[in-house]
Amino acid sequence: MAEFYTEGLVLEREIIGERDEKILIYTQALGKLRTIGRSVKKITSKLSGHLTAGNLVGARIVERNRGGFQIVDALSLGLKPEPNRQLLNLIDFLKRLVPENETDPGLWREIIEALSDQKTDFAYKELLGRLGFGSKFARCDHCHSASVDYFIVGDTMFLCASCLGEFLTFSNHHSLGIQNEVIKI
Ligand SMILES: [Zn+2]
Repeated sequence: MAEFYTEGLVLEREIIGERDEKILIYTQALGKLRTIGRSVKKITSKLSGHLTAGNLVGARIVERNRGGFQIVDALSLGLKPEPNRQLLNLIDFLKRLVPENETDPGLWREIIEALSDQKTDFAYKELLGRLGFGSKFARCDHCHSASVDYFIVGDTMFLCASCLGEFLTFSNHHSLGIQNEVIKI
């Protein structure tokens, strides 16, 4: 059983059963991880309050012998910005597109900078390239224009500025949750 202490950004939490939770977290030491938080609700004051989406935490994570990771301790690091569109976009991006169990120091630096408001725009363009969605040769999914301005996370596609409006109208019409999916690149 290996134990790690690492900083991480909580991406998502989901209650399972009576007391346990699934927590998706992007960590400095281990990359994106699916973890279990045991008895999280029972020890509310110790763990639960810290493990909210968008919160940066110092976490003690155990890799279990039978596989999987468990968060055994977590503490907020006080770098909690107000939940804004930019943070929601970032969380959505990390949830959907970043592979699990892959350490990426460059990405971690970007996350910390984005959280500490050191810059206003997350470098999605470079990041998309690193993840295999290079925008250099990308074309608008709709009109095939070579100038792409937006990346739609849920559909992993590029759009130009003039096609975005139509896409949003269509999405709203079909009541898709597009709110956090459009990234300006
Ligand atoms: Zn277009």
